[in-house]
Amino acid sequence: MIELRNISKVFDNGKAALTAVDNVSLTVEQGEIYGIIGYSGAGKSTLIRLLNGLEKPTAGSVTINGQTISSAKGEALRQARLKISMVFQHFNLLWSRTVSENIAFSMQIAGVPKTQIKRRVAELIELVGLKGRENAWPSQLSGGQKQRVGIARALANNPDVLLCDEATSALDPQTTDQILDLLSDINRRFRLTIVLITHEMHVVRKICDRVAVMENGKVVEEGDVLSLFTHPQQPITRQFVRQVS
Ligand code: ATP
Ligand code: MG
Repeated sequence: MIELRNISKVFDNGKAALTAVDNVSLTVEQGEIYGIIGYSGAGKSTLIRLLNGLEKPTAGSVTINGQTISSAKGEALRQARLKISMVFQHFNLLWSRTVSENIAFSMQIAGVPKTQIKRRVAELIELVGLKGRENAWPSQLSGGQKQRVGIARALANNPDVLLCDEATSALDPQTTDQILDLLSDINRRFRLTIVLITHEMHVVRKICDRVAVMENGKVVEEGDVLSLFTHPQQPITRQFVRQVS
């Protein structure tokens, strides 16, 4: 379970202060797919960086499975972060390494024995549907295939939480659906908690259980996807709902 309590993040360069995340509280239950939707600049990526400990909040706390990430330091933070994986919009693959090597990389860093890495890579290749492409270079793959590598890599160390920051925004609609199906499948099979950031309501409707709508750093509306679609309360939520109706 992920708990955000009164989280704020202010960026202050000495001349001006900008509140990127403004007093956000929310709870993500174990095993659910939780969407965070908002327009550009709403604070979504900052929120996700607070979730995985890449940023420290100015105020408030982030707790994941009982551990307070927001105040963890050094080795404790490093250990906690191993259990929180991320999938990116632009894949962030290592371009001079093959598909298998990309997937193996974080396990090598974590000191996992070679034979175990080999077995796990084969399992992940199978899971994400990349059999036969083990030795391809990222540049030889389609966008959807690159994201499959991104997802396999993110799952390598058996994370508790998968954070997806616009994971399908660089993909065409058909490929987006395939990647969302894969994420949904992974969520169901492993009861993996997924937090997914998007600016597309289609993505929310397709796979999220619950969703938070962000505007100017605040969560302005939150709830289960079905009721949000049938009874949007805020003007911005109605705009998003209109995207798909
Ligand atoms: P997008 O959909 O474009 O990715 P977003 O919702 O992810 O937008 P954020 O990247 O979280 O938005 O940014 C929220 C606000 O915080 C923006 O005004 C941005 O300029 C600001 N911001 C983000 N990171 C920093 C930083 N490191 N230093 C200063 N300001 C920042
Ligand atoms: Mg962003």
